[in-house]
Amino acid sequence: MKQLICPQCRARMVFEQHTCTQCGTLVSFDSTPLQMVRAATVVPCANRDLIGCNWSVDDGLPYCRSCRLTRTIPNLGSDRNLALWQKVEQAKRRLTYDLMRLQLPFAVPSGAHIAFDILSHETAGHSIMTGHLAGLITINLSEADDAVREARRATFREPYRTLLGHFRHEVGHFYWEALIDQAQLIGPFRLVFGDESADYASALADYHHRSDRSWSSDAFISEYATAHPWEDWAETFAHFLHIVSTLDTASSLPLSLDERAQHTLDDPYLERDFEALLALWESVAYSMNELNRSMGLSDAYPFRLTPAVRGKLHFVHLAIMRARNGG
Ligand SMILES: [Zn+2]
Ligand SMILES: [Zn+2]
Ligand SMILES: [Zn+2]
Repeated sequence: MKQLICPQCRARMVFEQHTCTQCGTLVSFDSTPLQMVRAATVVPCANRDLIGCNWSVDDGLPYCRSCRLTRTIPNLGSDRNLALWQKVEQAKRRLTYDLMRLQLPFAVPSGAHIAFDILSHETAGHSIMTGHLAGLITINLSEADDAVREARRATFREPYRTLLGHFRHEVGHFYWEALIDQAQLIGPFRLVFGDESADYASALADYHHRSDRSWSSDAFISEYATAHPWEDWAETFAHFLHIVSTLDTASSLPLSLDERAQHTLDDPYLERDFEALLALWESVAYSMNELNRSMGLSDAYPFRLTPAVRGKLHFVHLAIMRARNGG
């Protein structure tokens, strides 16, 4: 994410801030210029007081471009649910920002569009599966609880599990439908990711019941990616977003970079040279991991980009560029 600055005093700000810590000015994030503006000059999102959404609205609607993607909000009968929902929406605003920067559509001509149901199991009366169906993404509210999520991360043998990661993965399923057209891209897709016509439900059931948990980290970015070609695509799509978003943030840091790297950082979301993007990512990911380790923390990016995984990422990059250029 590009560095945000206070519109009043030019101090650096983070994406989630409502008030400048230096001069006290109330601010809103305006999703059209993608900048912080003085809150007094815009209409705030109707969720500002309730969950701290700091975005403004621009077209007479009550909610901002991120909040209005939420179709169902969780039961707000407890303070805990309200606090968890706040975290869910905070992660979702970062996803919405990514999609706007990638210039990807939120809806497709068939009518499918991105929408979110954020559900808590105590309301539903049954367990909630985070998942996707034709643009509708269900998020289990308890994934916003750090202790619950960490326990699941360990249970599912994952090196990384975050709310933002869930959003980037689930929206990847929608973009498979939106970007991989059946006439042209499906053949290349199958060459790279395998045959997605394999029964999805039974592939997922098989995945969860496998007794042998060994898998090829040369061929896949994560263990879950081995479940089905659609999951492999969604995992790879999420990684593409991790990479361009984090590089975009790196563009505002005081790093010493050569000219090509500086050029890539002008707009990693729109960079056309995949090799340049990846070369820069490898040095940034390495640096983040080393910094984290110096703080006694786990790696920020605990993944290995093998030649096969790079090939898959390259395919995602091509599919996004193709959609942006009108197919
Ligand atoms: Zn300020
Ligand atoms: Zn909002
Ligand atoms: Zn998935």
